[in-house]
Amino acid sequence: MIIVLKPNIDTASREYERIESHVKNFQNIEILVHNFQGTEKLLTELHLIGNTAALSVEEIRGFPGVDHVIRVSEVYRVLGRHKGDSRPNNFTYNGVTFSQDNLNVFAGLCAVDSPESVEAMMKALQENGQVCTRMGAYKPRTSPYSFQGHGKDCLPYVFELAGKYGIKVIAMEVTHEKHVDEIGDALAKTGSPTGVMLQIGTRNTQNFELLKIVGRQQEFPVLLKRGFGITLDESLHAAEYLASEGNQMVIFGLRGMKTNIGDPHRNLVDFAHVPVVKRLTRMPVCVDPSHSVGSRSRSSDNILDIMHVTAQGVITGANMILVDFHPDPGKALVDGPQALRMDELRPFLDDVAIVRQAFEQRLALFGSDKAHAGFQP
Ligand code: PEP
Ligand code: MN
Repeated sequence: MIIVLKPNIDTASREYERIESHVKNFQNIEILVHNFQGTEKLLTELHLIGNTAALSVEEIRGFPGVDHVIRVSEVYRVLGRHKGDSRPNNFTYNGVTFSQDNLNVFAGLCAVDSPESVEAMMKALQENGQVCTRMGAYKPRTSPYSFQGHGKDCLPYVFELAGKYGIKVIAMEVTHEKHVDEIGDALAKTGSPTGVMLQIGTRNTQNFELLKIVGRQQEFPVLLKRGFGITLDESLHAAEYLASEGNQMVIFGLRGMKTNIGDPHRNLVDFAHVPVVKRLTRMPVCVDPSHSVGSRSRSSDNILDIMHVTAQGVITGANMILVDFHPDPGKALVDGPQALRMDELRPFLDDVAIVRQAFEQRLALFGSDKAHAGFQP
């Protein structure tokens, strides 16, 4: 059961004391407190863990200070959708809203290689009205002999250039808890010119200790990539690790599944799961067409497979696209074969806008009451 308190009522209040003493009358129920400090108000949720069947939702609803009460099912307690659940499916970070009803594009470098590449990328993004990007500083590589990313050394110039070109959110993978501190330190030292969305890659989807650490901080939102060889349910539980530790700013990323059945693509595209994740949880859903397809292959219709696959995600309501670009793909240190070129950014965004519009027409056709927050190409 989740008890959502009215704004600005916290655990020091009389109202909380009354709820707590009521709950204490029942055995084996633990109260976990989740606080969310917004710009104007504090929101507190009480998560009751244990045998809550004997508690009456109606009775608790009647307590002063209670906004609403949700009876949750066992799975995806925090991020899941439950009966009568009016909790939001969105959050705003550094001025950018992430929601199940809108769409943000994160085009950028798979791996940061040089200040020149970062600047060329960010300049192109600004010229095309984009405020989000991806920049890999810590790269998990199959071979220990491959380039591992520039790590913390590149953070100052990445953040400064982001500030220069109006980038508000950078998706950046972390593979170790110290990376979170390094990012926080570098942001503080550069005067926080931008924001960071921590990315948990597919190799770490079930690295539970990393998930707990990243979930415990509430400064940065998190993009959790689906595990490449586990069930959707297992990956959704991984997302729940983040949220159960207190961070509900979580986006779920589809990036294809590892199997030879998807050949010649790098992974089997799994974007049919976009609406499934939106139905089961309140998380905005990201698609990564670059790591799904893995190449710049072009079909007989002159459209790149990466663009076709992006369209498959957007037509089913994807809320974020994470896509690799590089000013000179042949020279990229990581994943060059799947990187799009700067001159492909404009057509990419135009294509996304066409498909997003078609998705919104589909919403109207089926009488959906979803807000049309849309996408600005
Ligand atoms: C990436 O986005 O750079 C990446 C390594 O992706 P994944 O974890 O999906 O392989
Ligand atoms: Mn990559």
